[in-house]
Amino acid sequence: MRAAGFGFADSSESADVVIFNTCSVRERAAHKVFTRIGEVRRQRLNREPVVGVMGCVAQLEGLTLFDNSPSVNLIVGTRATDRLPELIGRALEGESRVIDLDERAEGERWDVPATARTSKHVAFVPIIEGCNKFCTYCIVPFSRGREKSRTASEIIAEIDELRDAGYREIHLIGQNVNSYRPRTGAGLEGFKGATPFCRLLRAAAATGMERIKFTTSFPRDFHPDIVNAIDEHENLCDWIHLPAQSGSDRVLRAMRRGHTVADYYRRIAKIKNARRRLAITSDIIVGFPGETEADFQDTMALVEQLGYDALYIFKYSERPGTPAAKLDDDVTQGEKKARFLELESLQQRLQQKIYESYLGKQVQVLAERPSVKSDRDMSGHSTCHKVINFPRASITAGQ
Ligand code: SF4
Repeated sequence: MRAAGFGFADSSESADVVIFNTCSVRERAAHKVFTRIGEVRRQRLNREPVVGVMGCVAQLEGLTLFDNSPSVNLIVGTRATDRLPELIGRALEGESRVIDLDERAEGERWDVPATARTSKHVAFVPIIEGCNKFCTYCIVPFSRGREKSRTASEIIAEIDELRDAGYREIHLIGQNVNSYRPRTGAGLEGFKGATPFCRLLRAAAATGMERIKFTTSFPRDFHPDIVNAIDEHENLCDWIHLPAQSGSDRVLRAMRRGHTVADYYRRIAKIKNARRRLAITSDIIVGFPGETEADFQDTMALVEQLGYDALYIFKYSERPGTPAAKLDDDVTQGEKKARFLELESLQQRLQQKIYESYLGKQVQVLAERPSVKSDRDMSGHSTCHKVINFPRASITAGQ
């Protein structure tokens, strides 16, 4: 956008163009967008700006957004981001309904130039977008489309550019990074590995970028060779996020996750046998339709046994249009809340023990920003992706 001559306005009241970038993983996303559009319209009765919606809600709702909200002039799908300047240009010239829900075109860029990033030290590098897994509760395959991988040569060129611009940490990102499957092997020549993602990890490590993290991993596609690559390269960081979602095979089947609890344990066993201690984090959904107290206790047992460094717990809530939305949501709000709190309390107890095991040890932390807790402190992440607050002293961001 900057390259096309656009800049940020101070507020939506002074902007010529107001774009809502939306995420449908959040509950009631479309509803929230309509509320915000209404607010902008009320602020700007005299001179209405071009109002656009982009991201997942745009992709899912499509033309109906025009019908439901006459203030919207522009709808930009999840793969049309590179065409945004041209689309805004058409809306500014007076075209009343500009919409683009098409696929990313050949040669369009996925990355943000190093000079236009908000952090000068940590950068996110997309390697795959979309998802083919169709877990029954998830809207992502509908909003982000099928998996599409970037070529490794493009990814490696971006990492080189970031390293040369002084970046010290990158995150290879995608809905399922270990499902990475580019159409050609360009950029992976000379790098071995059991899967294209394992080869990409080794190629990324060879760039000399100081710290490399990746997220999110899908258990079924998590090949043990990923751990071998981490063992071989110190700059592949000691942290893996591997969502379990449930400790009950019955619930995993209903979620259509494509793996069993035993499969998951096997992946974790390999991770726990790594040369360095690798921090493991996970996601759990409590109160999925049909989840019984016994199923939930299986999840408690899994969490107790595995001892996660951090756990993101979600109470199930329906996403319209997903297969799970057709199931009877028979776990009451009260039960969901009680299970959430029980699991949270278990995790706090286990996490406390893990954190205490770090007492007296040294970890490498990248200072990122002033701490939100105290203006005398700085905040950053360790290589094992723990947030660390420490006295600011003479340390500056990027050290
Ligand atoms: S693998 Fe992740 S992104 Fe894909 S459908 Fe399942 S939960 Fe959604």
